[in-house]
Amino acid sequence: MMDGKALAARVRADVARDVAELGHVGLATILVGDDPASHVYIEGKHKAATEAGIDARDVRLPADTPEADVLGLVEQLNGDDEVDGILVQLPLPEHIDETAVTYAVAPSKDVDGFHPVNAGHLYLGTPLHVPATPAGCMELLAAYGVDPSGKDAVVIGRSEIVGRPMAMLLVQAHATVTVCHSRTADLAGHVRRADIVVAAVGRPGLVTPDWVKPGAAVLDVGLTRTEEGIRGDVDPEVASVAGLLTPMPGGTGPMTIAMLLRSAVKAARFRRGLLAYPGL
Ligand code: NAD
Repeated sequence: MMDGKALAARVRADVARDVAELGHVGLATILVGDDPASHVYIEGKHKAATEAGIDARDVRLPADTPEADVLGLVEQLNGDDEVDGILVQLPLPEHIDETAVTYAVAPSKDVDGFHPVNAGHLYLGTPLHVPATPAGCMELLAAYGVDPSGKDAVVIGRSEIVGRPMAMLLVQAHATVTVCHSRTADLAGHVRRADIVVAAVGRPGLVTPDWVKPGAAVLDVGLTRTEEGIRGDVDPEVASVAGLLTPMPGGTGPMTIAMLLRSAVKAARFRRGLLAYPGL
């Protein structure tokens, strides 16, 4: 099993050292509304940020906050020198245009890597801020000695926050990448050829042992809350076939938070002129 918790603890310790060296790293999060899962995620991010010594500002707004107010707040944080990174927790309430808010965050402060400037730089191979979940998956592969170069990788899911950036990172690491999604014919056939599988769908137990090439590295991103607890996209029985597998929970989730903190440090370095970045 790939121990995401242990690796995340190591990354967070590195982040704490970097924060101490920099003197101050500021991260502001914006949460609009009462989505219970979002509240849990924000709590987790704040706890981890504070433990690493990051000055974390927790802005919470009622569900009926007008879009203009959210945009105004983002604008204000963009100009705030104490704030290195800004994170807007998604999903936003329906009356707020997520795209407008995502685009409003200054690319240099966009620690989630969702702004098109950051997405574009990832596409071009010159990333600054990369979405935390795929970045965490790459860190897990590296920590467990899996070099994607020359390997066949299958990413299941093509969302802007997981599947697509994951595919880009794997291409950049010289893997041969297939992106599968809801319209893929013969998903099992694609997965069977893969040395690296990343499942990011949100369908419990989708990937079964008979789909997995013996010895493959399997990263489970999908997360579904069921009555029996949190379930991943990968059937736990896959452990009997895979060479490496992330547990759910305790795999990709803790890494997501750790990589977000690393992104905040990156933002602070960039803003202090310690990190050059083309185009920004
Ligand atoms: P999304 O709903 O935006 O995307 C899901 C993707 O799965 C889509 O691209 C869709 O085409 C594909 N899909 C749907 N049904 C499919 C099927 N039957 N076969 C193949 N592909 C199919 O979701 P998302 O934001 O990318 O998140 C995916 C999952 O990962 C969710 O369960 C989410 O909760 C979880 N997640 C986990 C972490 C973490 O840290 N572990 C972080 C982010 C998201």
